Amino acid sequence: MVEVHLGDITRLQADVIVNAANRHLAGGGGVDGAVHRAAGPELSQACREIGCCPVGEVRATPAFSLSAKRIYHTVGPVWRGGNLGEPELLSSCYRQCLSLARREGMGSIAFPAISCGVYDYPPELAVEIALEQVQDHLDRGSPPFEILFCCFDEAMAVLYRQQLEPLVRR
Ligand code: ADP
Repeated sequence: MVEVHLGDITRLQADVIVNAANRHLAGGGGVDGAVHRAAGPELSQACREIGCCPVGEVRATPAFSLSAKRIYHTVGPVWRGGNLGEPELLSSCYRQCLSLARREGMGSIAFPAISCGVYDYPPELAVEIALEQVQDHLDRGSPPFEILFCCFDEAMAVLYRQQLEPLVRR
């Protein structure tokens, strides 16, 4: 099942909350700031112990004060025009998160719009990539877990809903 939600990702009920982190896993603004505030100070300590995360990869921590089971910190690419591997790197973020969720036996996963804030990825292109990776995951017959896309504003939610419609009808 694939759903679109509007609001703060830290308030969603899901086994995994995905955080759009930076390479130093140091916390920051946007989703990252919200996740760190909601999870509490132990999260910073857990991230420090991990160290860094390359762009396109994922690192998992406990969720501490969040109601989720896990936080997956993934680092999206900064948009620099699209010819520097941005699409492959963003695809990799979604693919790695989905595959880790499957390996960890998680029942649901909530994604923010990775790279669509300060990293400036064009939202239409980012949504296309997110849905491609989800479709790929479902096509491979991976366990049908619940996939939630959490949007912070209505415009982003409209993009997901528009692009999701043909996918759901397949
Ligand atoms: P990035 O650095 O990967 O661009 P940002 O956190 O700046 O990450 O933004 C990614 C997306 O998440 C943007 O669309 C932004 O509006 C949205 N966003 C910001 N805060 C939250 C939140 N608390 N819950 C869900 N989405 C959020």
